[in-house]
Amino acid sequence: MGSSKPTLNTTGAPKQKWVHHLPAAAARLVRELALFIYPPTCAGCGQPLHSERSEPLCSDCLRTLEFIAEPYCPVCGIPYAKEMPNPHLCGDCLSGIHHFDRARSTGFYRGSLREVLHRFKYGGRTSLARPLAHMLIAPGKHLARLHKIDCIMPVPLHPKRLRQRGFNQASLLAQRLRSALNISIDYASLQRSRWTEPQTGLTRRQRATNVRGAFRLKTPEKVRGKGILLLDDVFTTGETVNQCVRVLKRDGGAREVVVLTVARTVAG
Ligand SMILES: [Zn+2]
Ligand SMILES: [Zn+2]
Repeated sequence: MGSSKPTLNTTGAPKQKWVHHLPAAAARLVRELALFIYPPTCAGCGQPLHSERSEPLCSDCLRTLEFIAEPYCPVCGIPYAKEMPNPHLCGDCLSGIHHFDRARSTGFYRGSLREVLHRFKYGGRTSLARPLAHMLIAPGKHLARLHKIDCIMPVPLHPKRLRQRGFNQASLLAQRLRSALNISIDYASLQRSRWTEPQTGLTRRQRATNVRGAFRLKTPEKVRGKGILLLDDVFTTGETVNQCVRVLKRDGGAREVVVLTVARTVAG
């Protein structure tokens, strides 16, 4: 099994909140006071939410979530604008620039989903891992049906980035997805060994150069012959996951690697 026990250093999971150590009644009082002082806000637009709402989004933001549906490229999942009876491979897949076997994303990286992911990743709203991972269950099960998946692998962060952020957003999603898919997580085999600047604002070519050689395998023997579900929050040009897949296949001999992300940027 390609799994390992999560630790703070490798997973970036936040420490147990101190409120968990209080007796139940005191913890409830603290939570109610916190709700009074800090009423919950919509993860999409920041407006206060009615406290009885269980979703993290207001009804407006929930309505404007844009999910990716067919038709899309059968390999990389990029959506097509027009209906077509038998979707063909996209130009990127025909030119062979992707190294993964298949990729799927739940929604478009824009509007309320983009805001939610920003609040999750940069705003430290880690409780959003649960609803975001929930969106990954159906496409995750679909990928697991099409490919024999042995483990979920979150795209790793560089240790310096992990210290800055306090958590790895992909690891938090993986933790929530594990039980739904009943597939173990391998946190440790793949590592980000080289510091890279954020990819934002870079062209595809610059992104490829930026992440080249950024990943390495700590334990190649653990991925040999394995089917891997690589998990990340956003798929932009695919250069980051491409580098991971190259290392997993070329250096580790992984059998197949499929990619699952919450959102995907689509030009135009
Ligand atoms: Zn909203
Ligand atoms: Zn494609």
